[in-house]
Amino acid sequence: MRLVIIGGVAAGSKAAAKARRVNADLEIIIYQQEAEVSYSACGEPYVISGIIADSQQLLIRTPSDFAQDRIQVFTEHRVETIDHVNKQLVVQDLKTRHCFTSIYDRLIIATGARPIIPTINGTNLTGALVLRSWTDLQTFRHTITDLKPRSALIIGAGYISLELAEALTKLNISTTIAARGQRLLSAFDADMAALVLTHLQENSVSFRFNTQVAELIGHQQRVTGVTTTEGEFIAADLVIFAIGIQANVELAKQAGITLGKTGAIQVDARMATNLSDIYAAGDCCETRNRITGMASWQPLGDTANLQGRVAGENAAGGDAYFQGSFGTSILKVFDFNIAMTGLPEHAAKQHGFTPLSVTVTAMDKARYYPNAHSSQLKLIANSNGRLLGAQAVGKGASDKLIDIAATALLGNLSCADLEYADFAYSPPFSPVLSPISVAAGVLASRIKQQT
Ligand SMILES: Cc1cc2nc3c(=O)[nH]c(=O)nc-3n(C[C@H](O)[C@H](O)[C@H](O)COP(=O)(O)OP(=O)(O)OC[C@H]3O[C@@H](n4cnc5c(N)ncnc54)[C@H](O)[C@@H]3O)c2cc1C
Repeated sequence: MRLVIIGGVAAGSKAAAKARRVNADLEIIIYQQEAEVSYSACGEPYVISGIIADSQQLLIRTPSDFAQDRIQVFTEHRVETIDHVNKQLVVQDLKTRHCFTSIYDRLIIATGARPIIPTINGTNLTGALVLRSWTDLQTFRHTITDLKPRSALIIGAGYISLELAEALTKLNISTTIAARGQRLLSAFDADMAALVLTHLQENSVSFRFNTQVAELIGHQQRVTGVTTTEGEFIAADLVIFAIGIQANVELAKQAGITLGKTGAIQVDARMATNLSDIYAAGDCCETRNRITGMASWQPLGDTANLQGRVAGENAAGGDAYFQGSFGTSILKVFDFNIAMTGLPEHAAKQHGFTPLSVTVTAMDKARYYPNAHSSQLKLIANSNGRLLGAQAVGKGASDKLIDIAATALLGNLSCADLEYADFAYSPPFSPVLSPISVAAGVLASRIKQQT
C-alpha cells in the first residue's frame, strides 16, 4: 500500500513518522514544495532576533533522516492536481518543470497556510516582508543585513507581529505596529491585551490603531513607507505584513474536497475528508472547538502535530481520533509570558454562555523567594461553575497556569473542583496555594452567591 503526503513541515512530517510506526510495510512518499522539509517555523522570530544563531538549528529532520525510516521525501515538488477517482496526482518537479503522475492508495493533505498579503500597490518592493516559510526567513534575514533598516512598520497585531516587534527592537530597529482595529491580540480579552500593550510600549514599541494601509511607497525599488487610507504617510525602512494567514485549500477544493465554514478543509475526528482514502491535517484543515463543539480553525503548531499523528495512524490502517482543541496558545514578548486556553469572556458570551470571571495576581514562587515574578491570571467560568477559559499575562510562569487550566478544561472541571485541587508546593516553585486554586475559589463563591 502506498501513502502519499502533500506538504512536509509539521503535520505532514508527523503523519509520515506515525504512519511508519503503525505500519512497517507501507510505502510512504512526501511531496514538499519547499526546498526544506520538517522545520520549526515557530523558531523563526528567534533566528531574526539572534537568540538562535543559525537557522539550520530549526531543521528537525532532513530527507536523509526520513530515508532511514524508508520515507521518501521529494523536496521542490509541488502537487498540481488530485484525481480522486483514479487515485493519482500530477506532480511538478520545480527544479526541472517536469510534470509526472503519481499514484496513491491513501493520501494525506498537509498543505498548511500562507500569509495574507493585501492587494495594494508596492507589496513587491524590497523591504516589504512576510514571515512564514523557510524562504521567507532567509529573505527576512538577508534584507535586514543588506538594507540595515533603522525603522520597521509591522501591519497587524497578532502573535507573529508581537514576536517580530521584540526581535526587531532587539536589533535596534525602531518598530511600530499598525492595526486596523482598536486593540491587539483579539484572541484575548481586552483587559488582558491592554497589559500586553503597556509592556510593549514600555519596551519602545509604538502603536497606531484604527490605521489602514492604502499602499506602500518606495524609492528605487526600496520601500520607504506607507500611506494610510486617511492620506497620512508613515515612513519605514521595512514594512512587514502580519495581518493573518489563509489555509492552502485550492488543491483540495479543486479535487472536490468539502471545505468548512471557516474556509479550511472539513474533516471528521479521524481526520478524514469527504473523499474516501483522503485525510487532511494541520493548518489547511479545521478542528473542533472542544468547548463549543463547533468547527473552528486553530492554525497552531501543536494542533498540526496532533492532527498529523491521527491522520498518519488512520491512513496506515489504525483507528485514532482527534477530539478537537481548546486553542491553548502562548507567546513570549520581552519579559512577558502571555498565554490562554479555552474561550475568552467576549467569545463565551457570543456562544451563549453566561460567563463570570475573576483576575488575580499570580506569583510563580513564594513572594519572598528570589526571582519570584507575577502574572495576572484571569479565570472564566460559566454560571454553573464549569471552567470555560483562562488567560495569563505577566513576567511569571504563565505557561504553568495555562497548562493547568487546559488540563482542567480537558477534564471538564468546575471551579469548585479546582479550588481544592492538590498542586505541588515548595517556595521555589509556587505560593502555598496555587493561584489557580485561589482564583477558582473566588469564582466558586461568586457563583454560589448568585444562585
Ligand atoms: C513565525 C511563526 C511563529 C509561529 N509560532 C508558533 C508558536 O509559537 N506556537 C504554535 O503553536 N504555532 C506557531 N506557529 C504556527 C505553526 O508554525 C504552524 O501551525 C505549523 O507550521 C503548521 O504546520 P503545517 O504542516 O500544517 O503547515 P505549514 O507549516 O504551512 O507547511 C505546509 C507545507 O506544505 C507545502 N505545500 C503547500 N501546498 C503544496 C503542494 N501543492 N505540494 C507540495 N507541497 C505543498 C507548503 O509549501 C509548506 O511547506 C508559528 C508560525 C510562524 C510562521
